[in-house]
Amino acid sequence: MCVECPCGNLIKDSGNPSTSFADFLPSVLSDDYCDVIESAIGTHESAVASQYVIVGTTDLFRRMCQCPSCGRLFVEDENFGCHEFVPASASVPKALFMRSRPRSWGLKELKELGSDLRSWGQIL
Ligand SMILES: [Zn+2]
Repeated sequence: MCVECPCGNLIKDSGNPSTSFADFLPSVLSDDYCDVIESAIGTHESAVASQYVIVGTTDLFRRMCQCPSCGRLFVEDENFGCHEFVPASASVPKALFMRSRPRSWGLKELKELGSDLRSWGQIL
């Protein structure tokens, strides 16, 4: 995704993590996303399952970006069309996709949860 903003700024996706871009999952595709994950976990070893999930979910996500100069949002539709939204006021942050909160779940917590779930599976 590369957008030439009306303010004159060129917003380019370099492929590296950027605070100007975000991938989003439309709510209507949440069940599809969960189905891919459940299927991957149920049918593949963990190393293969992660690749299966990546391949199986990538096309569910859409892109959006925000111009860091003027704050406009550019949102991709289901046909890769790009739609522009102008902030209602100058007080809208120009880095909406910046991580400002620490993650409440890290890899350590996920591993512990996985261990707990496996234990519960053995009990049931
Ligand atoms: Zn702009």
